[in-house]
Amino acid sequence: MDNNCIFCKIIKKELESKIIYEDQNVISFLDINPHTIAHTVVIPKKHYSTILDLSNDDILQLFSGLQKVVDLIKKTINPDGFNIGINHGRVAGQVIDHLHIHVLPRFFNDGGGSIHSIIFNKPKESLDEIYEKIKKYGNRS
Ligand code: AMP
Ligand code: ZN
Repeated sequence: MDNNCIFCKIIKKELESKIIYEDQNVISFLDINPHTIAHTVVIPKKHYSTILDLSNDDILQLFSGLQKVVDLIKKTINPDGFNIGINHGRVAGQVIDHLHIHVLPRFFNDGGGSIHSIIFNKPKESLDEIYEKIKKYGNRS
């Protein structure tokens, strides 16, 4: 828990929120500034900043909670699809340093874009160069 964190305050019920799902490890509530109907955030109850801080168990629990929330919204709001994503780091738009997964219900002709519409910073390097840089530290070399 981080005493200065808004989301930790929501977990502790010190701050009011519209909680739609809660279990031992995960909590999910409606975003206070929705970009679409039932825009929701799903968060681990442990205060982590990024996915790099989570254990395998934490990830399993978080994704399991996420699936339940998506199922719940599908059944109640019935969107045509979802964008599901994380603003990971300041540069990517992360304002609250408690890891959270945005769930954005989508409807045909709602005017939104895909995840590809976030960034158009085409790389100067070739795909081969980038691949070489990364793969030697991966598990396929
Ligand atoms: P991010 O830019 O990914 O850090 O997004 C943080 C999200 O948290 C934003 O979409 C905010 O609207 C949302 N938010 C901030 N404070 C609250 C709150 N008290 N209850 C619900 N959602 C919140
Ligand atoms: Zn927190």
